[in-house]
This record gives sequence, C-alpha cells and structure tokens, in this order.
Amino acid sequence: MKVRLLGTGDATGTPKIGCFCRQCSHARDTDTERLRTSLLVSSNETTILIDTTPDLRRQLLNAGSPRISAVIWTHGHYDHFMGLGEFYRVQKTPPVYAAEPVMTYCGGIFSFLLNETKTVLPYIPFQIGDITVTLIEVTHPPVYTCGVILSDGRTRVGFTSDTNDQLPEKTLELLFGVDMLFVDGLFPPSFRKVTKHMNLDEADRLAARLGVVSYRIVHMSHHVPFDYQNQGYDGDEFVW
Ligand SMILES: [Zn+2]
Ligand SMILES: [Zn+2]
Ligand SMILES: [Zn+2]
Repeated sequence: MKVRLLGTGDATGTPKIGCFCRQCSHARDTDTERLRTSLLVSSNETTILIDTTPDLRRQLLNAGSPRISAVIWTHGHYDHFMGLGEFYRVQKTPPVYAAEPVMTYCGGIFSFLLNETKTVLPYIPFQIGDITVTLIEVTHPPVYTCGVILSDGRTRVGFTSDTNDQLPEKTLELLFGVDMLFVDGLFPPSFRKVTKHMNLDEADRLAARLGVVSYRIVHMSHHVPFDYQNQGYDGDEFVW
C-alpha cells in the first residue's frame, strides 16, 4: 500500500490569498504550498482518493495523473468535496463512498456528475479492490464528519480528517496502534482553543495516546511554521 499526501493545508491553503505573514511570505518566496488536505491511497488493484478538494486538478497533475478507482468523502465542507467537478471530461466520475448525511448533502450538489454513489455505515468495513476501508465518526461540530481507516491486511493507516480531540470511544479503539496516522492540527499551541479542530499540541497528544507507530500532522493553517515537527508536506509518499 502506498499513500501520498496530495495536500496538507486548511480551507484557505498556504499561502493564503492576501496574507503576508511569515509563512505565507516564505511560501511565495520558495514556491512552496500547502494545498487543501487530501490523500491518495494506492495498491496493486486500486487507487482511492480521500476527499476531492478545490485543488484537485493541480494535485492529480502533481501526482502523475493517476486514474482514480474510487472517492471517499469525509464531510460536506467546501475544502473537502467541491473539487469533484475536476473529473469532468477527464475520466468517468468514479464511484463515491460516504456516510449518509455526507452523501445527502454533497451528492445533492453534484447530482449532475455522479454515476455511482455508495452510502456506507460508519464502523462497518467495506472493500474497495484489495483495500479494506472503515469510516469512523469524529467530532467536527456542527457538521457530521467521518475519518477513515484503510488496511491491506498487513498495514493500517488512519486519517482523522477534520476533528477536535473529543473522539468517540469506538473511533479511539479502532485507531489504536495504527502504522500511520494523519491527524488534524490547525493552529500552533499558543492559539485559542478552536471547537472544530485540534491545535498542534492536541494532535501530538492524540497520536501519543493512540500509541501509533508513526504520524504526520495535516490540515495545517498558514499559522503553522514549515519546520514544525511531525508535519506532513505536500507530495510526501509513504510505502509499506
Ligand atoms: Zn477542512
Ligand atoms: Zn499567512
Ligand atoms: Zn471541515
């Protein structure tokens, strides 16, 4: 199984339009970006895209133009699903998997483009090719949101998507000891408590509490320095 970080940024991406803070200036000077957070997961049999961001075209070009076998939507926020339109006239829109509230909202907006929708229940594993996928509920008020666990039978990868650190017990149990965790970390520790996301301290603490083998922070805002420990970078690939 191979996972590529297509993007590691938050809703605005970094650099943020109109911002000249230290990180945004550095990003512009060095041609570095944090595109919106999304993962590409591939195996011998399948290529799964987790979330379709508004940066999808650039992300797929950067990844070498893979053909996508299936899409999973985590939740109905603009930065996570509005890029589905990028499949138009590029490839047949892949089947899209999501929990019922997410499919109802996002699927309604994209009804003109969807060929195949697969509404799935959280905590019930399902198969996409040779990858076993489980949606796990997370806490991103007020929007219903799921993270994802992927397994090829040997390696388990967890993705929390957008969440605060108050995860349901069942979700914590399933994430325990994963080989790689991609974890939401929006702000530096000094920032005010946000109810929808974790700051970097909370992300580090969650990874430690879960006893994961390895982790990378994603969904970072422009306030997060580019040299913060354990952060993911756009284009990073992990192979097992
Ligand atoms: Zn987001
Ligand atoms: Zn900035
Ligand atoms: Zn969100």
